[in-house]
Amino acid sequence: MDRLSGSGSQAPPGFEARGRISPLGEEIEKMQHETTYWNGEPAICVRLDYDEAREFLALDADEIAYLDSLTASERRAATLELYLVPLREVAEYAVGVAGKPTEHLPSRSAATTVSEEGDYDESLYSLEGIDRAAYLEVLDRAARIIAREIRAWDTEDISRLVELLAKLDEIVDRADWEVQDYVDMTALPSAPIPEGVDTAYPVWAVDKRGMALVGPGADEVESVEEVRAACEEQGRRKRGTPLRCHKCGHTWTYRGGSQYRTTCPACHVTVYIDKCEITLAEMARGE
Ligand SMILES: [Zn+2]
Repeated sequence: MDRLSGSGSQAPPGFEARGRISPLGEEIEKMQHETTYWNGEPAICVRLDYDEAREFLALDADEIAYLDSLTASERRAATLELYLVPLREVAEYAVGVAGKPTEHLPSRSAATTVSEEGDYDESLYSLEGIDRAAYLEVLDRAARIIAREIRAWDTEDISRLVELLAKLDEIVDRADWEVQDYVDMTALPSAPIPEGVDTAYPVWAVDKRGMALVGPGADEVESVEEVRAACEEQGRRKRGTPLRCHKCGHTWTYRGGSQYRTTCPACHVTVYIDKCEITLAEMARGE
């Protein structure tokens, strides 16, 4: 950190660079970032100056050796462009020493431009080390990109929706945010909900192949048939089953979980549900 702490300020590492004045009297630019595209995919481009690039690449001996080999004027012009592609979890960076990397080249044979593919998580982590505020903004933008994909889900295959929701969950988790901050879970895209399927089950969405996203955490998949059967069972329990005790003749509405037997609330004898079930009309007549 010595390299950055000329002022001796108490600011956390990474923030010190902000106020530093370069030897040429120009203020060092803040880490810049913008939404863009990378091979046709939504991406976030982060631009780092020489000092920020050194921090970002601190654990990569080859890259540090390359940065060390630059002349003073090359260092002043050095830019590292980092492309974060949240949907593919790819991070690609390119170092250029002519002000800006002009294109991404596969090797450093071009002498002035280096391009490497890196680990997405590792890159986000390194970015946090450089600037927490920018890290959070990158997470926010990544979450927005994924949320947009979720809202545009074509309802073809529920596993795609599950995958996107899991990704969004992972990203918002890193910042202690909620999925609901980005996507209204009660208004997900869905193929028409078939009859007999109660969304209170809960059912979050169904696809065109008859598979449904269910579960309190919206992370389980069941067929519409399974959901329908479960809804019927739920409905049956809610309505209850009218029973008449074979021993004492007491009638009541049973709402318990067993489909097999229960106990008469009046005489406490064991009652077999299939043998003691009566119709609603019999119940109403008190028979
Ligand atoms: Zn009884």
